[in-house]
Parts: sequence; C-alpha cells; structure tokens
Amino acid sequence: MQSSISRSLRNGWETSNLDRPRRLSASLNYHQESMPAKPRLGQNFLNDSEAVQRIAASLGDLSGRTVVEVGPGAGAITSALAARAAHVVAVELDPALVAHLRTQFPPDKLTVHQQDVLRFDFAAASAQAGQRLLVFGNLPYFITSQILLKLAASHTDIDKAVLMVQREVADRVTAQPGSRDYGLLSVTVQMFGPAEKLFTLPPSAFSPPPDVYSTVFRWRFALRFQELGVEESSFLPFIRKVFAQKRKTLVNNLRTAGFSSAAIAGALTQAAIDSRARAEALSIETLAALWRALDVTRAAV
Ligand code: SAM
Repeated sequence: MQSSISRSLRNGWETSNLDRPRRLSASLNYHQESMPAKPRLGQNFLNDSEAVQRIAASLGDLSGRTVVEVGPGAGAITSALAARAAHVVAVELDPALVAHLRTQFPPDKLTVHQQDVLRFDFAAASAQAGQRLLVFGNLPYFITSQILLKLAASHTDIDKAVLMVQREVADRVTAQPGSRDYGLLSVTVQMFGPAEKLFTLPPSAFSPPPDVYSTVFRWRFALRFQELGVEESSFLPFIRKVFAQKRKTLVNNLRTAGFSSAAIAGALTQAAIDSRARAEALSIETLAALWRALDVTRAAV
C-alpha cells in the first residue's frame, strides 16, 4: 500500500525530472577535483542540489534533533542536515573523507567517527544525544542488507531513517503482498515499522554515475512483534523458511521446514489460508496468524 504522496512524488520526479539533475556547487565536488572515488567503498557522490534539499526535508522537522549520517562522503548532504539539525553524527570509513569533513564543519555541529557503520554504537550515540536518533544514509550499495539489519537491531535507539538504496532494493523493502517484489526482505523490514518510497534518482545524479537507479525511502521504527503476538527470535527465522523457495507453495515450504502434514493442515484452516497459497500472497498479519497457529516456538522445527 503506497501512499498517494509517494505515488505522486514518484510520478512527478521519475517522468519529468529524471535526467536533469541540478549540479552541486564546486566546493561539494571536492572528491572529483582532489581524489578519485573508491568503488570498493561504494563511492557514488550525490551531485544534485535539489535532491539534497528533498532528502533533508524528508526527515521532517530537525530542530533540536541529532541526525546520524551513514557514509557522508564529501558532505553533500551533511551540509543540508547540519543547517537544519541541532547536531550531526557522521560515520565514514574513508580516512581521507573524514579528514576533509573535519575541516568543513565546526565540532559543535558535526562529530565525525572514522568507523565501519556495522560496528557503530547507536545506543551510545542515542544516550549521548538524550533522544532517539534520526538516521540518513546514501548507502554504499554492497552492504545495504547488513546496514538494514544493523538499523533494525538498533531499533530502540532510532526514531526513523531516510535511506537511499538501489531502486530494486527499495522496491523489495516497501513491497506489499501479491506483488512480484514482496518477500523475505519486505516482511523483515516492515516488522520493524512501515517503509515508504519517496523518490527515485537516475545514475546521472551521481559522480561517478552508478550502473543503477537509486530510490530514497523512509522507514519509521515502530515494532509489530508484540501487536501481532509473535516472538522476534523465532518469527524471523520462520519467515525465512516460509519464503525459502519462491516457486514452491507455502505448504511445500512448510513441509521442507519440517512441519508435519497434519500440523500444516490444521494451521492453514485456523489461519484461514488457502492450501494452494504461496507465501508471496500473505500479508504480515496472516503470516503472524500462521506462526501462532503452528505454535512455532513450541514446535521448534
Ligand atoms: N553521502 C555521500 C553522498 O551522497 O554524496 C556519499 C555516499 S556514497 C554512496 C557511500 C559512502 O559510504 C562513501 O563515502 C563511503 O566511503 C562510505 N562507506 C562505505 N562503506 C562504509 C562503511 N562500512 N561504514 C561507513 N561508511 C562507509
């Protein structure tokens, strides 16, 4: 279920503005002038000033807030965040970019950690800020899944995140049941809170241009495990088994996972699921009903 706002943003942006990025000022093109981008670190720097403003605006009112930026690069988006937020905490792996960022912003506005974001302590940053964090990242695409899992694991310390990822990943993250893209990634992310696509950018909005389109999505952290009566520790592994083989029916995937035919038949009836259904057709609520009906925690398959 995509909101009408995100639909109209997509339509407007993708069709009319797609290949006309507005270039950022020369000072933000630092990396191009002084050092080549490092592909092994997923360095594709945003080069479109209008996109920068839209990204900053999509985190909402930033006054009094601390924003953690994942992979700030040369600071194209950092400037817009710092102009709106009380403080920005940037986590960047590349020492040359860290040194550059430290010359660009005063320490009361920006704290830079030279660190792998997968090792970043969001709990400590949240405690220091005295609030749940806002997170932004134009993510290095090669570790997108790990970063999403890291953010999910840090959910108590994060209010919401606005993330730029490869378009196909955003399609999967935000997909709804019955669509081609709906699956393990959609359910996993959405169990931690609703995710909605905002807008898409073409390769020409970046320097160097990546091979793929990029989509910005917003993820508001509001856990669903308790509300749906499931345990996180066994529900997510169960979902992995349910979606194990996309072409198989739900019943076949459950059999492969070790559930007996009798247990499966009883659970499908209890959860009002058609015996020919595929997991891709089932909403998160129905998957939770199935988990409860199978009594997964006690079944311990
Ligand atoms: N935010 C900048 C922009 O939009 O222009 C740069 C985005 S670029 C796609 C990804 C950034 O993440 C790069 O600056 C890269 O050095 C950094 N990066 C890569 N792997 C990282 C990691 N494990 N932890 C933190 N930063 C990382």
